[in-house]
Amino acid sequence: MGSTINTVAGPVSSDALGRTLMHEHVFVEYGTALQDCRPLGAAREQILSTCFEVAARVRACGVKTIVDPTTTDLGRNVPLLKAVSEHSGLNIICCTGIYSTSTYQALRLRLGGPGAIAELFIRELSQGIGESGVKAGIIKLVTGSEIDDDDHELLSACARASVATGAPIITHTEGILGPEQQKILHAEGVPLQKIIVGHSCISTNFNYHRQIVEMGSYIGFDRFGMEGGMPDEVRVQCLKKLIDAGFLDRLIVSHDSVWYWVNGPKIGSGPYKNWKPTNFFERVIPMLQYAGVSDEQIETILTDNPRRYFS
Ligand SMILES: [Zn+2]
Repeated sequence: MGSTINTVAGPVSSDALGRTLMHEHVFVEYGTALQDCRPLGAAREQILSTCFEVAARVRACGVKTIVDPTTTDLGRNVPLLKAVSEHSGLNIICCTGIYSTSTYQALRLRLGGPGAIAELFIRELSQGIGESGVKAGIIKLVTGSEIDDDDHELLSACARASVATGAPIITHTEGILGPEQQKILHAEGVPLQKIIVGHSCISTNFNYHRQIVEMGSYIGFDRFGMEGGMPDEVRVQCLKKLIDAGFLDRLIVSHDSVWYWVNGPKIGSGPYKNWKPTNFFERVIPMLQYAGVSDEQIETILTDNPRRYFS
């Protein structure tokens, strides 16, 4: 029996998630926190048609579910996510959490302390985001180039929300701080298998990757297609090493793509031509096959690992 996961369209069994991309952004707009239902304005039709088109292409790759870890301060827009889910049939799991330290500091001031921030996360996971009735299904957290006191406080607040609700955590990592994140979260009571150390593919260091998975968490190779300075071929070599070392069951893949980015690059254009949520299926799977990874192993990464992580 699977567990029940909150999607923007309501609860879904972990057994029904199917092929899942664990880190994609439907819509990003840098802005102020706690405005999740703001109207899309004059660009509404263009935003909807772009997102519908991308979602349909993702569905055509056999993807049934995406995790959208867009926090409120990155422009989390619950009505838009609902519209995209309804139109495409994609399950979309949205998040609670905070992206920037400045948002954390502002919210701490406004709400009265880290305890109240944890309460906000718990409310969004168990009751809903604002008045939308949509519950978050995952907690997103960010640490910077070092884990300072504010980062530490945010990690603790996220851990409290995870322990209280059972929701898993997906991280944004700079540099090689994954094990630090894991240690802090685990010390606060979060089971290691409920953590994805995101953006681990910014490093090519096998010993670093190995440390993350040996501790028992999932490792996010979640920037396929973001090739400035890191070609997908290198990510594939790193994945293959982890598979050969026996860690197939800990691998998570995605693109960190942004389907509609206000004042950002247009999806799949110019230097970003491969940075789109179909890239894994169009370019990366053939690379993995060429490297000797079997179709069954690829399906484990796309389907079984997300299901187990959410169970
Ligand atoms: Zn992201």
